Amino acid sequence: MAAPDSQNADPSPDASPDRSAQPSTDAGEGLYDYLDVAFTGSYPRLEDCPAPKHPEYAFIGRSNVGKSSLVNLLSGRKALAKVSTRPGKTQLLNFFWVRESPEAPVKIKADQPGAIGWYLVDLPGYGYAKVSKTQRAAWEKLIRNYLIRRESLSCVFLLVDSSIPPQQADLDFADFLGECRVPWAVVYTKTDRVAASKRQGMRKAFEAKLLEHWDALPPHFSTSSSKKRGRHELLAYIRDLNGRIAQGN
Ligand code: GDP
Repeated sequence: MAAPDSQNADPSPDASPDRSAQPSTDAGEGLYDYLDVAFTGSYPRLEDCPAPKHPEYAFIGRSNVGKSSLVNLLSGRKALAKVSTRPGKTQLLNFFWVRESPEAPVKIKADQPGAIGWYLVDLPGYGYAKVSKTQRAAWEKLIRNYLIRRESLSCVFLLVDSSIPPQQADLDFADFLGECRVPWAVVYTKTDRVAASKRQGMRKAFEAKLLEHWDALPPHFSTSSSKKRGRHELLAYIRDLNGRIAQGN
């Protein structure tokens, strides 16, 4: 699924240089000490999803990329996101309601007036070895529908394994995001697995591939769920976007 060469030059509302250059020592302390995350539900169709009243951040990647672990890292909970969905299982959009401030009234739920927060959406992944054509088509329809029609979608985080060479499935999905014209960012996972120099090489190789179809690179983040790296940077980015949305920018 190749994207046109003249693709959108700026894949994100705030394409900025290397955010991962910031220290990533945060293990859940400080600014994001308070984060209340609750599972909202799993939905098989866009029509079933909660009302699009809050900023929304979707996470997607190849199977085994470390998505569940990252959702758990962000939420500060050990087993919020379940282990990977196996092929053949119903493909669902998993919604989590996130409140970042203790001032946000506890009793107010996402669908009530005055609710302040955002949705984290765990999207069904791609790249399973044993997936039938029918399953693949159903996945594509669900994801395309969600990406194009979900008006409250603020950013899609594309998870990429930092310990392996560029994967065609990830590059194809980046093109798919371009076709759908949604803001996106790359989240490199498992950064504890290989030495920094090797990881840099993998990232450069991935970026070089991206630049074959994109005029500019999206923002990127480096994370390790094992070492609890990158949580602070990702949450700060989300908070920043939420602030802009609240101000109408
Ligand atoms: P998902 O299929 O994308 O949801 O991936 P999971 O979160 O289930 O993780 C897949 C595998 O990668 C599991 O064996 C995890 O323990 C491992 N894994 C996930 N994140 C990390 C990480 O940051 N570092 C390392 N070394 N392994 C990880």
